[in-house]
Amino acid sequence: MTYRSGRHFLQIPGPSNVPDRILRAMDKPTMDHRGPEFAELGKTVLAGMKQIFKTENPVVIYPASGTGAWEAALVNTLSAGDRVLMCETGQFATLWHGMAAKLGLDAEFIGGDWRHGVDPQAVQQRLSADSDHRIKAVCVVHHETSTGVTSDVAAVRRAIDAAGHPALLLVDTISGLGSVDFRTDEWGVDVAITCSQKGLMMPPGLSFNTISAKALQASRTAGLPRSYWGWDEMLQHNARGYFPYSPATNLLYGLKEAIAMLLEEGLDNVFARHARYSEATRRAVRAWGLEVLSLVPSEHSNVLTAVLMPEGESADRLRAVILEHFDMSLGTGLNKLQDRVFRIGHLGDFNDLTLIGTLAGVEMGLSTAGIAHNKGGVQAALDYLAEVAASGQRSQQQRVA
Ligand SMILES: *Cc1c(COP(=O)(O)O)cnc(C)c1O
Repeated sequence: MTYRSGRHFLQIPGPSNVPDRILRAMDKPTMDHRGPEFAELGKTVLAGMKQIFKTENPVVIYPASGTGAWEAALVNTLSAGDRVLMCETGQFATLWHGMAAKLGLDAEFIGGDWRHGVDPQAVQQRLSADSDHRIKAVCVVHHETSTGVTSDVAAVRRAIDAAGHPALLLVDTISGLGSVDFRTDEWGVDVAITCSQKGLMMPPGLSFNTISAKALQASRTAGLPRSYWGWDEMLQHNARGYFPYSPATNLLYGLKEAIAMLLEEGLDNVFARHARYSEATRRAVRAWGLEVLSLVPSEHSNVLTAVLMPEGESADRLRAVILEHFDMSLGTGLNKLQDRVFRIGHLGDFNDLTLIGTLAGVEMGLSTAGIAHNKGGVQAALDYLAEVAASGQRSQQQRVA
C-alpha cells in the first residue's frame, strides 16, 4: 500500500469517525477495574448514558458489539418457545429475526419491501388477533441502517396500547441513538439497544441495554439460558460502579468523553445538525437524478442515505472507484440490496464541510466511473447549507438587536 496523505473519509453508516477528543481520552494506561478510581468512571458513564437514552431506568454496558446487546435483550426477557413479533424493515431486522429463531424463540416476521418503516397498524392488527397473549415481545429496529428508513417507535407503542396487549417493546436504536431523538421512557420502550460505533462516535466494542421495570420483572422468570449477558449480576455490580467481569476500560474513558461532547453541543442541536445533513444529501441525490431508497418523506433517516443506482450500474464498482481515487469509504448494499445501492453515512462527528467533501467525492466518483448523472448535486447541497447558515445568522442578529 502506498501512503495516502490527508484524512481517509470514512462515510459508512457505522463505524463512524472517531473525533480526536475521544481518541485522546482513551489514550491512557489501563486501570485496575476493581480499584476505587474505576467506580467513579463506572458511575459517571452509567449515569451519563441514562441522559442520552432519556430514561430513569438502569442502563447496562457490555464489552460487545451491538449484536451482543440484541442477544442480551432477548435472553434476559424471554423463554424458549415464546412468540415474538418482528418487522422486516431490512437486513438488520432480518439478522435479529434470525437470531431469535436460533435462540429457540417462535419469531413471527411481518414482511416488508425494505423501503418502508414498521407499519404500526399491522402490529396493532397482529396483537389484537393474539387474544391469548402468546406474543411476549414486539421487536423493532428504529433506524434500519441497511435502507436508511426510520420507524416511528412512539407509534408502535401506541399500537401496542391500542391493542391492549401486554407484550414488551424491544427497540434496536443502534444507528439512531446520539444522532436522532430517542425517548426511551416517554415512548414506553422496555429495552432499548445500542452500541458504541455509530452516533456515539466511538470505535466498536461497547453495547447497551436499558431495562424498564417491566423488563426487569420479566427477567426474573425468563427461561432462556444466559450467563455473560445476565442483567442480575451486572446490575448488582453496577450499583457500586463496578462490573462482574473485565469492562472495556479504555473504551469507557472514550464513552465518558462522547457523552460530555453530546451534552456540550446539546442533544437538540445534535439532532438538528443530523436533520440538516440528511436534507442536504437528499437534495444532492435528486440533483444528480438518482433515487433515494427510502420512499416516505417522514421516514427518511437522518443518519444515512441509501442511494439506488441507475438500472444496470454497479454500486460496488462506484464505491471501488471512489475509494481508489478519492480515499473515501461508502456503505455497501446489504443482502438483496447488494450492488444495487450505496449508502452515505452522515452521522456522528460531522460538520458542513465534511458533508460537502463527502458529496464532492460521490459526484466526482460518478464522473470518474462514467455513470450518467446530472451535475450540480454538490451545488444544491451548498446552497441549502448556506441558506440554513444565513437564516441562523439573521436570527442571531435579531436577538442581539
Ligand atoms: C450496526 C448495526 C447492528 C449491528 O451491530 P454490530 O456492532 O455490528 O454487532 C445492528 N443493528 C443496526 C440497526 C445497526 O446499524
